[in-house]
Amino acid sequence: MGGSRAVARVSVLGGVGEIGGNKILVEDRDARVMLDFGMSISQRARFFSDPYVSPRRPESLLSLGIIPSVEGVYAWDEGEAKLDAVFLSHAHLDHYGYLSMLRRDVPVYCGETTERLMSAITETRRASFESDYRGLKYRTFKTGAALKVGSITLRPVHVDHSVPGAYGLVVETSTGAFVYTGDLRAHGRASHLTQDFAKAAAGSGASLLLTEATNMAGGAVSSEDEVARKLEAVIREARGLVRRASQGWTPTGSPRSTSPPLPPTGSSR
Ligand SMILES: [Zn+2]
Repeated sequence: MGGSRAVARVSVLGGVGEIGGNKILVEDRDARVMLDFGMSISQRARFFSDPYVSPRRPESLLSLGIIPSVEGVYAWDEGEAKLDAVFLSHAHLDHYGYLSMLRRDVPVYCGETTERLMSAITETRRASFESDYRGLKYRTFKTGAALKVGSITLRPVHVDHSVPGAYGLVVETSTGAFVYTGDLRAHGRASHLTQDFAKAAAGSGASLLLTEATNMAGGAVSSEDEVARKLEAVIREARGLVRRASQGWTPTGSPRSTSPPLPPTGSSR
């Protein structure tokens, strides 16, 4: 499929000079896989402004360069698929968004949580050609898996991110290995997941690291635990002003809040 190559090639078709929109094409001897298939939100916003000016056809996105011109990948392409699989790192729009336009005979590999999130998104989003995920074929993986697609082996390892079920990948090609981080963080409550990924990446012998950095600046970052402690202290002081919803916190006065007020001590566990 897709012809044969003597040397593996990695092409970043989305996600350079922008936040998200990741689409990374990996081609090796007998295999072609895409890492993420995200919506280029900032590129799209240069030309469109919902709900007044929205793209009506995929051709407009192609001609404006918002989606890459790659043969045998899109739902409207005729003939055989020229892509063996898509690997989805996590369920954020800038990583999964344009799967809507993917051929349905190309499987989408992702974690189990991501698959569940994608089915919820599929059920609840208004289906336009940009957001119709019906008919996608998911195959789920877990940390420790070694997924072979022709001469490419992909090893997913969990990472911590602001959406659950995120993964990074160690990708082994016939030319060598590289690492794709997806989106990750080290200051969250599950930073040990990111540490596991960092160890796997360090031990992979990779000669290339593909990562996305949106805020490279010095400064102190609060941990989520610290934020939770501060919130709890504020809430404890605000007697009678905070109610507990079934999940999480809502401010007093919300007309939908029907849960009883917190006890005066503010004990909220
Ligand atoms: Zn993300």
